[in-house]
Amino acid sequence: MATESGYQLHIFFFPFMAQGHMIPTIDMAKPFAVRGVKATVVTTPCNAPLVSKTVERTRTLGLNIDIQIVKFPTVEASLPEGCENVDSVSSPDMFPAFFIATKMLQEPLEQLLKDYQPSCLGADMFFPWATDVAAKPVFFSLAANDAMRLYEPHKKVSSDSEAFVIPNFPGEIKLTRAQLPDFTQQDVETDFTKLLKEAAESKLRSYGVVVNSFYELEPVYEDHYRKVLGRKAWHIGPVSLCNKDAEDKAQRGEKASIDEHEYLKWLGTKKPNSVVYICFGSTAKLSDSQLMEIAMCLEDSGQQFIWVARKGKNENEEEGFEKRVEDEGLIIRGWAPQVLILDHEAVGGFVTHCGWNSTLEGVTTGLPMVTWPMAAEQFYNEKLATDVLKIGVGVDDIKMEAIEEAVRLSMAGDEAEEISRAKALGKMAKRVVEEGGSSYSDLNALIKELSSL
Ligand code: UDP
Repeated sequence: MATESGYQLHIFFFPFMAQGHMIPTIDMAKPFAVRGVKATVVTTPCNAPLVSKTVERTRTLGLNIDIQIVKFPTVEASLPEGCENVDSVSSPDMFPAFFIATKMLQEPLEQLLKDYQPSCLGADMFFPWATDVAAKPVFFSLAANDAMRLYEPHKKVSSDSEAFVIPNFPGEIKLTRAQLPDFTQQDVETDFTKLLKEAAESKLRSYGVVVNSFYELEPVYEDHYRKVLGRKAWHIGPVSLCNKDAEDKAQRGEKASIDEHEYLKWLGTKKPNSVVYICFGSTAKLSDSQLMEIAMCLEDSGQQFIWVARKGKNENEEEGFEKRVEDEGLIIRGWAPQVLILDHEAVGGFVTHCGWNSTLEGVTTGLPMVTWPMAAEQFYNEKLATDVLKIGVGVDDIKMEAIEEAVRLSMAGDEAEEISRAKALGKMAKRVVEEGGSSYSDLNALIKELSSL
């Protein structure tokens, strides 16, 4: 099968080895394949099982998707065997070695490109050395990052709590130094800050940027990025909506740690919008004391909930906290089928760490959010949800406050403005990926342009 122009466009997709990057990349590859593009996902042996089921299932639908494997240089980078994903990095001091290993993938990737000669390489922003078209999450944080790097307003305030406005950036967005990711605050260059700098520079070298967002969600920031900053970009999201049926949704990422029937049965006994879903993404691991504190808050609130509490690595697993709350809610110790849960009518609110995928999945399902950012660009995503879209409520280091807000939001029904705005955006998100919608059209335009090169 070829694209409309008759030319067989072949795109290599190369996601960074973390769930928050691999999941949207696979979701992104599918709509390309639906339009006749041949898609190849490049990954490493231990990461392949995370994507192979989805790829196999997509192939049975007649789509042209395959996987190519490159060896991950664990031995060369002095990493333990099998440490090929951020999730398997058990301590922060292993990260430099992990990033060195990902840089070493350059040579085998180049060999693959020579052997297969695809039309284009769609690489993750964390592979700044490998970019034809870079995959990015959202215009707001892309442009905010540029402004922060250029003007460094956080260096001009006298304390961590003094607010500054992001300069030359629409919307008078206020932040404090304490709300910024660690790497922005550090004066000393680390491997990670270097990588982020290279990632920022790589988008200037790349042909363009493909963004998992939609125009109606952040028109001011997309216009700012394209027209004021003059960057070439396409919006093609929300890519998670390419998963149409329950099995597609359930297969995203790892194998769920909970039986589908168990949580569906539990949710089925609950009233619409009565359950709060709490999840901090694929990598954040809370300490036992943080877990216990959340458990106590949940217990005090009497709120019904589904709480995804990822198991920490090499920790003494303290199971006591689960006992405290098991009557009111469901605790998932491991991987949750997130989009399936968010889609359920019993779920009425989302406490999120504001990773972009989760934020957009919350938007897509029309849910109000309680925002609890922890690292990286999550602070920018929070601002978009709370200050710009006004579908979320932010809480500062929090716990009880977060749970109380979530209860208020999920119980408020259509009376809460956050909820009616969230619902309207959810409907819009579904429209933009259908024929004639803005993301549908932008993806077609991108394919047309790449085919004509
Ligand atoms: N996710 C999931 N189940 C989990 C945890 C995460 O399905 O138990 C998915 C979630 O739906 C999202 C991705 O993993 O698509 C996490 O990406 P995000 O950008 O939200 O956060 P990160 O994990 O990168 O911090």
